[in-house]
Amino acid sequence: MGKPKVIILGAGYGGMIVSRELEKTLMKGEADVTLINKHDYHYISTQLHKIGAGTVSDDHVALHIPDLLKTNHVKFMKATVKNTDFTEKKIILESGEIVEYDYLLIALGFDVDTFGIPGVEEFAFKIRSFRSSKAIHYHIRKEFAAYKEDLDSSHLTFVVAGAGFTGIEMVGELVDQLPKLCKEYAIPYKKIRIINVESSDSILPFFDRKAIDFTSAYLQKNSVELMTSTKIIQCKKDAIILDNGFQISARTLIWSGGVRANRLLEQWDLQLINGRIPVDKYLRVNGLDGVFCVGDAAYFLNEDEKALPATAQVAIQQAQVCGPNIAAAIRGQGLKPFTYHHKGTVASIGSKVAVGNVFGLKMTGFFAALMKQVVEARYLFVLGGPVFMAKVMLAKS
Ligand code: FAD
Ligand code: NAD
Repeated sequence: MGKPKVIILGAGYGGMIVSRELEKTLMKGEADVTLINKHDYHYISTQLHKIGAGTVSDDHVALHIPDLLKTNHVKFMKATVKNTDFTEKKIILESGEIVEYDYLLIALGFDVDTFGIPGVEEFAFKIRSFRSSKAIHYHIRKEFAAYKEDLDSSHLTFVVAGAGFTGIEMVGELVDQLPKLCKEYAIPYKKIRIINVESSDSILPFFDRKAIDFTSAYLQKNSVELMTSTKIIQCKKDAIILDNGFQISARTLIWSGGVRANRLLEQWDLQLINGRIPVDKYLRVNGLDGVFCVGDAAYFLNEDEKALPATAQVAIQQAQVCGPNIAAAIRGQGLKPFTYHHKGTVASIGSKVAVGNVFGLKMTGFFAALMKQVVEARYLFVLGGPVFMAKVMLAKS
């Protein structure tokens, strides 16, 4: 019998950390492990809003995958996954190539949910991937240049849909970046409108009153127009239609209205719950031999019978258990159940300010922003060690 074949689909938080765990756990020659990802870089999804605004350099967020794989235990294959045959244990790639597996990890992450709102797919910008976020940055610059040509104020009106974590973090970056672009293009800042539209009656609904009030005050001080209890019902090329009968003349809608699991999963022979793949306590896909799933693609019921949220924190913790579990499965050993430990949450509002609750300690302002950097640094440390962490953190902004 040949060496067992392990295939990892997706090099986001889940896929990268499982790869690193297998590099550490497996002995040389114990298994053939291949990590398959669309691009040859791993993008740090939690930083994508900064790429969208242009407040961080690309090398801070997009990391070359072969450089991250420390040993030759894990091979990398740049390819787009199209389909699966779980009976024959095969993966079908977009190129038509077929890859066989004995053990499979599905870590294909999230897609943006647009809820079928007319025009959003066509005209709005999404914070989904490195490329889609980079497109936001190029578009913003294009709009600044267009304003210089025709002085149409709709070029300088930037609308962000949703005031959940992603929406508020995006607005915070715009507050940091747009004054700089105004200087560069010699446009008075008073010409800029940043509008955040949220359908529920509060921004950051998962935070307490103090954090919400702090965030609202900071954004309003920086001229952001917060429209709560207002729903976007249509997006056109040059206008955003609201459910209160008004419309905003704008050519930029950044959609942060919510996420769902990767849509590709719906095309596979899988039983899904809310678009996600149900997994057992060992992170194995129910009913499929040798198949594991982590991160935003996985539906994991916590002890309180609630599904774990789609966060990097969950994906990383699951991957740290799933990697050793795949190694144990190869060796015929017992698997370890996954238990989630919530360490806290921090939402950045630009680079200098944040709100958070970490290990029960509530924080607002600069200290919270520092904490956010500690969280980011910790991930880089886990991924590549101290030197790698320092190199990425010090990459030019
Ligand atoms: P992803 O990170 O989505 O990775 C999936 C990978 O699969 C990607 O590399 C993708 O290219 C690849 N892929 C997809 N389809 C294919 C295919 N067909 N073929 C090959 N490869 C494919 N969470 C937190 O806990 N804290 C935060 O501060 C935080 N901030 C966030 C900020 C923003 C702007 C966003 C958008 C999300 C944030 N999140 C945060 C959520 C977090 O980013 C996700 O929960 C996390 O990325 C999920 O990790 P994952 O490995 O499951 O998937
Ligand atoms: P979300 O679902 O948390 O927030 C989306 C917001 O958009 C909601 O408040 C919703 O009411 C609003 N909305 C939806 N449709 C709308 C419409 N038509 N008009 C106006 N508003 C509309 O989604 P998210 O903020 O993208 O977060 C996704 C996941 O990523 C979550 O699990 C979150 O915890 C995680 N995340 C975490 C962080 C962090 O920890 N700092 C940052 C970003 C994302």
